[in-house]
Amino acid sequence: MANFDFILFDADNTLFDFDRAEHAALKSVLAARGYPTDPATLELYLSINRALWARFDRGEVTQSFLVVERFAAFTRAMGGHDDPAEFNRDYLDRLATGAFLLPGAEALCRALAPCCTLAIVTNGVARAQRGRFRRSPLAGLVSHLFISEELGAAKPDPAFFTAVLRALGDPPRSRVLVVGDNPATDVRGALASGLPAVWYDPRRLSDPGPWAPTWRVERFDQLKALILDRPLPPKLRPANRNT
Ligand SMILES: [Mg+2]
Repeated sequence: MANFDFILFDADNTLFDFDRAEHAALKSVLAARGYPTDPATLELYLSINRALWARFDRGEVTQSFLVVERFAAFTRAMGGHDDPAEFNRDYLDRLATGAFLLPGAEALCRALAPCCTLAIVTNGVARAQRGRFRRSPLAGLVSHLFISEELGAAKPDPAFFTAVLRALGDPPRSRVLVVGDNPATDVRGALASGLPAVWYDPRRLSDPGPWAPTWRVERFDQLKALILDRPLPPKLRPANRNT
């Protein structure tokens, strides 16, 4: 028996290579609309987008505002005249085709799927996430896709995880493991919901800020061992402690 019955994976930059998908979709939509695709122009959009998502993670703006505002701000800065809502839909439709997984993600899910129920828990935009998931090899391995936009609450709000757990039949929380690359949303939300959390930290950032995870891994083989091999490694912080 595995150490957990349910593994709740964050999608972007945990299983999916979001940076690659974003870059491809962005270049494609800019070229189609007559904008330059040089590194400085890409970085202009990316910096606007990053700042807005950071505000979303802090609960300052809604997702429906941020996805349009990023293209409104970009268009203003570039002196363009595109309708930002249409620009965003065009971008998301291109993003939805970017089903690139991180190296080793498929093998990890293949190894875990016979032992645990696998689910994705994402704050990403549904229009893109459904398409990327469906086109990826994970579609046959991961049985649930939980998207904040559809649940009406986003990580790190415990209401998000409450809705996920209810949909999974309210299993004991110690049997559910949350895995994600973002301490401020994935780890913080899991701990606030009484769920153990693994911080996936392949870039060895080493400092999760105020949200210390239950465990930290840098590679998928460490994660696989943590889920499948007994005994569990020592916890970095006590379980079920609310933050
Ligand atoms: Mg992520």
